[in-house]
Amino acid sequence: MTEETRTASTHTSTQAVHGAAARRKPSGSVTTPIVQTSTYTFADTAELRDFMERKHYRGGGDSVEYGRYGNPTVEAVEAKIAALEGGDGALLYPSGMSAVTSVLLTLLRPGLHIVLTDDCYRHTHDFCVGFLKRYGVETTVVPMGDDAALEAAIIPRKTRLILTESPTNPYLRIADLERVAALGKAHGALTMIDSTFATPVNQRPLEWGIDLVMHSATKYLAGHNDLLAGVIIGRQDRIDALREHRGLLGGIVDPHAAYLLDRGIKTLALRVQQHNANAQAVAEYLEAHPKIARVWYPGLASHPDHALAKAQMRGFGGVVTFEVAADFDGTSAFIDRLRIPYIAASLGGVESLIQQPALMSHFEMAADERRAQGITDNLVRFAVGIEDAQDLIDDLAQALE
Ligand SMILES: *Cc1c(COP(=O)(O)O)cnc(C)c1O
Repeated sequence: MTEETRTASTHTSTQAVHGAAARRKPSGSVTTPIVQTSTYTFADTAELRDFMERKHYRGGGDSVEYGRYGNPTVEAVEAKIAALEGGDGALLYPSGMSAVTSVLLTLLRPGLHIVLTDDCYRHTHDFCVGFLKRYGVETTVVPMGDDAALEAAIIPRKTRLILTESPTNPYLRIADLERVAALGKAHGALTMIDSTFATPVNQRPLEWGIDLVMHSATKYLAGHNDLLAGVIIGRQDRIDALREHRGLLGGIVDPHAAYLLDRGIKTLALRVQQHNANAQAVAEYLEAHPKIARVWYPGLASHPDHALAKAQMRGFGGVVTFEVAADFDGTSAFIDRLRIPYIAASLGGVESLIQQPALMSHFEMAADERRAQGITDNLVRFAVGIEDAQDLIDDLAQALE
């Protein structure tokens, strides 16, 4: 694949369609073929010898010998996502959690330390605070948005990683990416962000100096509620090191899922514009409604991080969180009356999904622990899809009556 054969554009909508794909694909196919193989052959032992010697000093490369190390369909999607985020390279994993756990297991060792911001994805929190602790890695959780606490939590020569998320779940708090990156550089710690809620259409963290960007590609990147995948994007040397460990830890996305992900990403720019517009309209409607107690959406002037979101994002995303002026059962009844959104976990697909965190994502927590985290009984998370905005608003209106 020579440079001339690649699509050269820095525009997200063009990159989402063409990425870094070769203009000329096998059999003249317009789409990237699904290479359904577990292993790869060599013409003779001389070719194998040449391959092994090249691989030895390249650490990665254009071709692979076995499916756990790479796959042409997977690599085409990785190149596309790297282009979208403005990174040198990307690595796909079979889920977002597989990406998080593989990266953290690669970067950390006993005695090292993580600084993690709160209001983060629950399983990321549990992996750091619970699982990694068994292996001698300590984690300090600091309040999102408290830069002084973040800096104070850094332990010289021990803090290897500052891990944050933006926007967060469920309160859609925004990390000041430039400040987080600067703190990491000043203290010799790597910075990593879970940018799932933002997508590369709305935010490009590498441009603010963040070292590693992670997505649950299950969400907006795939966009159709039909597959699981995770991805990590960064500088070439970091991606090379992570690739070696991906082969060891064993989590690589399946070529079929990679193909569906590629297909989903082709419409990413269009879909995210619609998610942004729909969520803004829904958030404004809910904020003005007397039966809604409170709304969190970074596109609203009332959101604590609105100014920061405006400064570093090109859109505010598709998730709206709100409190109904009702008790636990009244909130459930409101959700039951809705006709368009499905009651389901997850977000980022074309279909609107809605959930009551106290009943779903945070159900297993003790009620007092849940409340300490600010998860009230009447809290609702609405992952707004790409349906007609007025239909969604009319549906909310009838359910709130
Ligand atoms: C869903 C999600 C994850 C986990 O991704 P999976 O693909 O479900 O493993 C991580 N972070 C965020 C912000 C998510 O929404």
